[in-house]
Amino acid sequence: MAQAVYLQTYGCQMNERDSEEILGMLGAQGYVVVDREEDADVILLNTCSVRAHAEERAFGKMGLMQKLKRERPSLVLGILGCMAKAQREEVFRRLPQVDLVAGPAEIYDLPDLLAGVAERRQRAGLGAGARMLAVDRKVRPLERRPTTDYRAGQVTAFVTIMEGCDKKCAYCIVPTTRGHEVSRPVNEILEEIQQLALAGYRQVTLLGQNVNSYGKRFLDGSGWVGPGRRRALLQLAARTGEAAASSDGAPAPPRLVDFPALLRAIDSKTSIDRIRFTTSHPFDAHAELFRAMAECQAVCEFLHLPVQSGSDRILRAMRRGYTAGTYLGQLARLRALVPHVALSTDIIVGFPGETDADFEATCALMERVRYDSAFVFKYSPRPGTEAAGWPDDVPQTVKERRNQAVLELQSRISHEKLEAWVGREVEVLVEERNRRGQLTGKSRSNTTVVLEGSDDLIGELVPVRVARVTGTTMIGDPVDRPASAR
Ligand code: SAM
Ligand code: SF4
Repeated sequence: MAQAVYLQTYGCQMNERDSEEILGMLGAQGYVVVDREEDADVILLNTCSVRAHAEERAFGKMGLMQKLKRERPSLVLGILGCMAKAQREEVFRRLPQVDLVAGPAEIYDLPDLLAGVAERRQRAGLGAGARMLAVDRKVRPLERRPTTDYRAGQVTAFVTIMEGCDKKCAYCIVPTTRGHEVSRPVNEILEEIQQLALAGYRQVTLLGQNVNSYGKRFLDGSGWVGPGRRRALLQLAARTGEAAASSDGAPAPPRLVDFPALLRAIDSKTSIDRIRFTTSHPFDAHAELFRAMAECQAVCEFLHLPVQSGSDRILRAMRRGYTAGTYLGQLARLRALVPHVALSTDIIVGFPGETDADFEATCALMERVRYDSAFVFKYSPRPGTEAAGWPDDVPQTVKERRNQAVLELQSRISHEKLEAWVGREVEVLVEERNRRGQLTGKSRSNTTVVLEGSDDLIGELVPVRVARVTGTTMIGDPVDRPASAR
């Protein structure tokens, strides 16, 4: 009989996409996906380590799953992803019933690892000595990406364009858990996106921890390595007559393709209607990215550019590689090229040494930029990171207060910006019906829009007149155009 698998995902969109790939692989092996733990033979948690809170949720959930296993010893339990890598000893210590621990670079080994668990169990008797640990790879072997696929949605899709992170932000565990950066070849990405477009998908979100360093390193060792090297390669290309994709969108040898070039190639060579991407590190976001955003019709007018703090002192301690001034300069260039661009950001409050004045600088930057939305995080020391060695000296109550203040500030700005849309027309990609039965979708600027209409509109790009706004949502009606104007 087919084995049933239940998979729960924590954390970022990269994890969500990894989970889709995992389910695609397991589906091809004959597993059926179930949405209740009670119906599963295999329970997997794809975990996040960015903050202690995310880890505690996964520990708590797997603790409950262990109770299920006591009643049903044949159950297989697995911890996958970042926590598997960052907390392997802790996982086995606190979760003795777990059979399998596999890091982000090992997800393509999952069918083999599950087969290994089954084989060991057979040899040693149910449950005993069946544990498998796979967390040692430094880079995900992208050449082994499964061709079988599973997608959670039918209108929008995630496309991973690179893995890992080579930055060393002082607070962040991701480079340790996800390993070195490696990019997928351009042609493979173009092919995947065109197939999605042909299958009826209208939007892709390109994923990477820092999409702006796309093309720096490919699996075969080629890549542009850094801005200086890229310039040199482009000059060489001009001399030798090799096409440079970033200047005209033509295909180029992989080593010459950077992120703006990739955007241009997707825009010109596939029929996908909308392109989004996340995340952009400000250090690597250059004018050429903004030009590509302005010139590529399919690229949505939206940029998530995490600033983390508005204080230069704190940014330096975080090892972010930019100042508030250079960051604001980038946004000014972007806004000159893409005037109505919507912006979102990540903010960390309570980083070690953050004073009231540092915090005020963050609020001042937010007032100045007027982001459309922001994700706010209370600093959480992560063992193994540079900042974990420093005193976590901002008291929890102060972190809470700053967190609340930033949320209130952002909520006011978001609302003011949303209200400015009332009466205007937005293009909505209708995705689904919400729990209340209304159609919902996103504007190009990434705002949720609610509208009434028939199911035929799902998957369509619909012009909508914004009637009112509530919280973070626009409410509107499809614009009925005369037939001649369609
Ligand atoms: N690569 C992206 C970048 O550099 O902007 C961010 C990826 S990270 C998974 C998402 C966000 O989590 C970060 O932008 C940061 O705000 C937050 N974060 C990371 N480590 C954190 C920590 N130790 N404590 C609190 N927030 C953290
Ligand atoms: Fe973490 Fe910095 Fe890499 Fe983002 S760029 S994943 S914050 S180390």
